[in-house]
Amino acid sequence: MNALEVSAVGFRYGQREALKGVGFSLAAGEFAALLGPNGAGKSTLIALLTRLYDLQLGEIAVCGHSLKHQPRVALARLGVVFQQSTLDLDLSVEQNLRYHAALHGLSGKVAALRIERELERQQLGQRRREKVRLLNGGHRRRVEIARALLHEPSLLLLDEASSGLDPASRNGLNRHVRRLCRDQNMAVLWTTHLLDEVQADDHLLLLHQGRIITDDRAGAVGGQEAGGLAQAFERLTTAKACA
Ligand code: ADP
Ligand code: MG
Repeated sequence: MNALEVSAVGFRYGQREALKGVGFSLAAGEFAALLGPNGAGKSTLIALLTRLYDLQLGEIAVCGHSLKHQPRVALARLGVVFQQSTLDLDLSVEQNLRYHAALHGLSGKVAALRIERELERQQLGQRRREKVRLLNGGHRRRVEIARALLHEPSLLLLDEASSGLDPASRNGLNRHVRRLCRDQNMAVLWTTHLLDEVQADDHLLLLHQGRIITDDRAGAVGGQEAGGLAQAFERLTTAKACA
């Protein structure tokens, strides 16, 4: 069963049409890059996937559960890292995690075990009692990822999770999420406007002006030559701009 099915999704902010007939699917355990320039509609799609916004047109199913008709079951399968940090800066790392575990209804014992495991995995064990305000951007993102994984989702959504980080932290975060995807057979939708975060083996979804204009292996889109994907990205996002 697919981790995510998006069919014919459309969304308007008043007169402004932000998404048009968006459809794609993600297999279980798959890493997909949702690539699109600023304003393409990436965050709008994430808002629909997480039910921040109600669906206006189309269907979304997470692990076979309709977001419209079975929202609780569907949302329980999702982990999310939003574009803007949603951590409480004045709580410690551990308190942020504990609060989220409680929201997901995890018992104290299960929560404690999972928090321990995630802190370990994100190499945050030493920082657990520090206020999030004291952490740098890369570490804050790791806390958000730890938090998103506490309820063991089948699909992790990340909206420009690496933006604002220095190049080394950006690469580190990208590698880290790929490893999580592989080791846990968890599907990942990695949203970005940065081409260098996409690898040839990725499932590439190119979003431009509210439409998915490419849905393929990244390697197939860019061809074999160096810089191929960059050229294809430029060509696709300029050629269709007036369509
Ligand atoms: P991205 O995340 O890819 O940068 P967004 O989903 O934030 O794109 O935005 C898609 C389009 O919708 C843009 O044209 C943006 O200006 C518009 N938009 C986003 N949020 C709102 C809003 N709250 N009200 C009106 N228009 C919006
Ligand atoms: Mg955005």
